Formats: sequence, structure tokens, C-alpha cells
Amino acid sequence: MKLHELTIHEALDLLQRREISATELTQAVLERIVAVDNDTKAYLTLTPEAACEEARTADELRAAGTDGALLGIPLALKDNICQIGLPTTCGSRILESFVPPYDATVVTRLRDAGVVFLGKTNLDEFAMGSSTENSAFFTTRNPWDLTRVPGGSSGGSAAALSANETLGALGSDTGGSVRQPASLCGVVGLKPTYGRVSRYGLVAFASSLDQIGPMGKDVTDCALLLSVIAGHDPRDSTSLDTPVPDYTQALRPELEGLRVGVPREYFGAGTQPGVEMALRKAIQVLADLGAKIGETSLPHTEYALPVYYLLAPAEASANLARYDGVKYGYSAPDAPDVWEAYRRTRQHGFGAEVKRRIMLGTYALSAGYYDAYYLKAQKVRTLIKQDFYRAFQEFDVVVGPTAPTVAFKIGEKAQDPLQMYLSDVFTIPQNLAGICALSLPCGFADGLPVGLQISGPVLGEELVLRVAYAYEQATEWHSQKPIIKKER
Ligand code: GLN
Repeated sequence: MKLHELTIHEALDLLQRREISATELTQAVLERIVAVDNDTKAYLTLTPEAACEEARTADELRAAGTDGALLGIPLALKDNICQIGLPTTCGSRILESFVPPYDATVVTRLRDAGVVFLGKTNLDEFAMGSSTENSAFFTTRNPWDLTRVPGGSSGGSAAALSANETLGALGSDTGGSVRQPASLCGVVGLKPTYGRVSRYGLVAFASSLDQIGPMGKDVTDCALLLSVIAGHDPRDSTSLDTPVPDYTQALRPELEGLRVGVPREYFGAGTQPGVEMALRKAIQVLADLGAKIGETSLPHTEYALPVYYLLAPAEASANLARYDGVKYGYSAPDAPDVWEAYRRTRQHGFGAEVKRRIMLGTYALSAGYYDAYYLKAQKVRTLIKQDFYRAFQEFDVVVGPTAPTVAFKIGEKAQDPLQMYLSDVFTIPQNLAGICALSLPCGFADGLPVGLQISGPVLGEELVLRVAYAYEQATEWHSQKPIIKKER
């Protein structure tokens, strides 16, 4: 096996046994990036010299007898996560020249664990989108079919993983942005419980929904990454002060006695038949592993999308008010007065989707409309939360498709925001409810990967990982790799 094809846990094994060095591993991944990133366009920024330096340090530390949970493992970060001294563009012109003077808490934790940072991956501008087509710089392509989108907004992270251009990655998930691209690219992605992972240093989109999540080539890698990045952080007042388990301890190959709910709202109209077929087979595998399967209902599912598209833009309109050309990034030159400077900075700096969200959000929050839209949406959010609460009284986890379709063509939905928004019908409810959910490969439709979504209660990461791991052990989907067209 080639080094860039390794999973994190396989690489750690070889590193610990001194069969490979972090330097060799990093070189192999960097060579892979040179070979395929022109096709996938997963990365916005690459830091090969720094990566080699960090790999050397990791080798020295290991030689000196020091260990770290991820010592010498090359990793990619979505470009809305701050890493000191590197551009953090958020896929936006307005932050093109922004270089954060500090590390996000997740980056500090990964650094302390010995990670080698490869660079920053592409995303939809400010994480608003489901295809990476909203990146101000370029569209990332799906390694399974370069004419298709990798999903979004963490499309760069998902494509990089799927094309073996990194061993692991971080994404962010506000309404599905870790899980949906993971599903479309055939990798594993986990959205942790709201508050499980610190948001300090994650550029805010919708603060009550945003959560950083691990992405990996398999479930074990996600468990390893989550064990490192999770935990309380005094710098994020919404971070939970509960102990972090070693998530790899939860991974067992059977599901005896586990209760798995299948929400009836997650099947039927709008879901591609091939996706539904793969899902039905996956549920049978869970049953064969000993799980008790039962039907359940999440009756307010149909309201999740409209609620999200009131609340997320409302929060975004407030969060993005800070980009006015004064403190961060782009500033329009030669404006005659301060108002004109704001206007020109934002007009030039933001792309169409971001402007649409700011307008939607400002409208929903404005006097006279607040009660009818924002407040009402908050109330329906509570109903959506209660749906899950009730389902988890009866079931340990609920399962369904991650996305209604496989990867779509580049350009297919770019002019139709509503169609694009529908990509997230099954992933948005979990963000609104604040619960955890994971997507992992469960088959193919039309030759493209399909994702199985496993949702668990608040702090139910161990359960979700356990179900995912058992399923993964019983199937071969995660070991299928794309042949990038140029290689054929
Ligand atoms: N696709 C959704 C949106 O456009 C979710 C994005 C995300 O999770 N960051 O808002």
C-alpha cells in the first residue's frame, strides 16, 4: 500500500513501530497533492515547507521517546478555521488578505497532539452552500467524477480525503457541511453535539448552529480526531464542560440490543431511488448485526429547511456585519466617506449567495417582521428538537440518508438556490436540535457514493460511532477509492 493511502490509525501503527517516518509520510502526501490537486482543486493554500519541518520535528520527538495522539499525522483544515500566520479566506474576497494572529482552539489541540498541517481547503464562501461553487476562488471537483461537485461547504476537505491528498481533515457543519460532502465524496464525517468542540477561531456563520467536525477515511479516524479536538474551552462560552472519553474505546463490531429508529419522513419523495435502495440494504446490515430496527417519526422535519433559512441568515447577517473594511481583510480604496467605504467594501467583497443571506437575515430580524419570522422560527426550532427528544426515548440512534441525491453536476443547481438548499433537508434538523450525527459510505448509486446518516442524542457520539464502526466492519464500502480521471 502507498503511504498516502493509509488511514490515520494505520499510519500511527507504522510510525509507532518505526516502520515509516513522519517525513516519508508527509512527502508521500505532498507528492500525491502535486499529482492530483490540479484535478480536484481541493486546497486553497498549501504549506509544504512548514509541513516538512513539522514532520521532522515529529520524527525527532518520537526518536526522543515522546508520543502524541496524532504525532506525525498530516492533516488538512477547512479555510474558515484560523491557523496562525496563514491566510484564512473563508472562500471570500473580503477575507482574501486576512491572516489571523492566533490559532483556533482545535488547531492548538491538534498541534499539541503532534499533527503536521498540510494547508487549508476550499469551501463555499463563509460556509454558505452545498457544492463549493460559492467559493470566490474556484470550484472543487468530486474525485469520483471531476464534472461533479464534491458537496459543501466543506467540499475541499472531503475531496482531499477521498483523493488521498490528506490523512484526515476538519470541516465545519452549520446545516450539513461536514456530512453532506462526506456523503458525496465517500468518506466519513461527524458533526458533534453543539458545544462538544470549541468554536474559538472558527469564523462564525450562524453561531447557534456552527460546529467543527472531524472527517476521515474511516470511522476509527473520526473517533481519533474527535478525542483530540473535543472538550471544554473557556474561550467559547457555549462549549460543554463535560469530560471527553477516548472515543476509540466505543468502537465494537456488534450491535446486540441496540435500538435503531428509521424516521418515515426521511424516505420517499425527493430522494433518488438508488439512494433509497442503498439505505434499505444498509438498514438490513444493521439488523443482521443485532440491532432492533423500528419505524419512528420526526413530524416537524418539513419545517426544518424554512426554519434554518430564517435563523441561519439572521445570525449570519449579524456575524458578517463586522466585515466593513475597517478591521479585517478587504477595504475599498478611495471612498469619499465612511458609508461609501462600507458600501463598496461589502459590494465588492461578498459574493451573491452571501449577499442573499445577509438580506434574508436582515429582513427576518427587522422591526415588524421579527415576531412573524425570527421568533416564530425559534418556536418551531423547539418543536424540531422535541421530535428528536421523543425519538431518543424509544431508540438509541436514528438512521436515514445523509443527502437525497448523489453528487450532482457542476452548474446543475448553481442558479437555483432552492434546489441547492434541498441538498440539506436531512442534515439541517440535527443542527437545529443541537444533537450529533455522522455520515459514512453505504453504497453507490449511478457509480457515485451514497452516505448513511446516523444521528444520536446530545453527547451521544459514542453511540453513533459504535453503530458506524459496526456497520463499517461488516461492509467494504469505505475501502472503495475513486480513480481520478487522469489516472484511468
Ligand atoms: N448548505 C447549508 C447552507 O448553505 C449548510 C452549510 C453549512 O453547514 N455550513 O447554509
